[in-house]
Amino acid sequence: MRGLEQKNVLVTGASSGIGRAIAIRFAQEGANVAINFLKDREEAEAAAREVLAARAGIKTCLVQADVSREDDIKDMFANAIAELGSLDVLVNNAGIQMPCPSHEIEAKDFDRIVSVDLRGAFLCAREALRHFLARGARGVILNNSSVHQMIPKPKYLSYAISKSGMDNLTKTLALEYAAHGIRVNAVGPGAVVTPINKAWIDNPKARGEVESHIPMGRPAAPEEIASVFAFLASDEASYITGQTIFACGGLTLYPEFRTAWASGE
Ligand code: NAD
Repeated sequence: MRGLEQKNVLVTGASSGIGRAIAIRFAQEGANVAINFLKDREEAEAAAREVLAARAGIKTCLVQADVSREDDIKDMFANAIAELGSLDVLVNNAGIQMPCPSHEIEAKDFDRIVSVDLRGAFLCAREALRHFLARGARGVILNNSSVHQMIPKPKYLSYAISKSGMDNLTKTLALEYAAHGIRVNAVGPGAVVTPINKAWIDNPKARGEVESHIPMGRPAAPEEIASVFAFLASDEASYITGQTIFACGGLTLYPEFRTAWASGE
C-alpha cells in the first residue's frame, strides 16, 4: 500500500493477537515498528523476530509500558522516538475485557478496563498528537475498537462503554486535528481468533455458538483485521478521517434479520 515504506509506527499491545498481526503487516509494507508489550518479554521478543523476518531492511524495537499508566506512556513514546527517530503512526490496540453481570461489577474492575481500553487510548493519542504537532508533520492515529462500540454487550459493560467512548474519541480528535493533516480512524473487528477469545476458540460447542451468530459463518483471522489498519494508515486512505471501518463478517448488519421474521414472511 502506498506511503507506508520507512514510516515509523508504534503499536500498543503488539506482542499477541491482532496487535502482533498489525506489527507484522506494517513491517511487510516496509514500515519500522515499535512493539509495545505489557509484561511478557519472551512473547514480545518472538513478535519482534516475526516483524524483522517480514521484510529486509526494516527496524523494530520493544517498548514495555502499561497503557493505564501515564508515566509509562510518556517513557514508551520517548523510547520509541529515540529508537526509530520519530513516529508517523500510532495504533491504539491494547485492550482487555472481563465478563461480569453489571450489578456485580466492582468499581476497581470497572476502572481498570476503562483505564486500559479508553483512557489508555486517549493518553497515547495525546502523546502522538503532541509529537506530530511539535514536528509540524502529518500523522495518523488508529484505534482498535470493536463491533461493541455500537452493539450492546451484556456482562461486558465496561468494555462496551470503553469502545463506545472510542467512537467519539476517534471522531472528536479527527475533527479537532484535521486541519493539521492528522487523520484519526478506527477499525471495529467482530470475532477474531486471538488469546482474548480463549473461552471459545478451542471449545467446539462454544465456537459453533459464536459462528452461528456471524453472517459470514466464521471468525476472522488477525491478518484480516491487520490489513484494514494498513489501509487506513496508508496514502490509499488519504481522504478518510473520523471513521470506523467494521471488519466483522456482517455482525453489525442485525444478523437476527437474516430471515424476514419481523414482517411475518
Ligand atoms: P490479545 O489479548 O491478544 O491482545 C491484547 C493485547 O493488549 C495483549 O498483548 C496484552 O498484553 C495487551 N495489553 C493488555 N493490557 C495492557 C496494558 N495495560 N498495557 C499495554 N498492553 C496491554 O487480544 P486481541 O484480540 O488481539 O485484542 C486486541 C484488541 O482488539 C483489543 O483492544 C480488543 O478489544 C480488540 N478486539 C478484539 C476482538 C476479538 O475478537 N479478538 C474483537 C474486537 C476488538
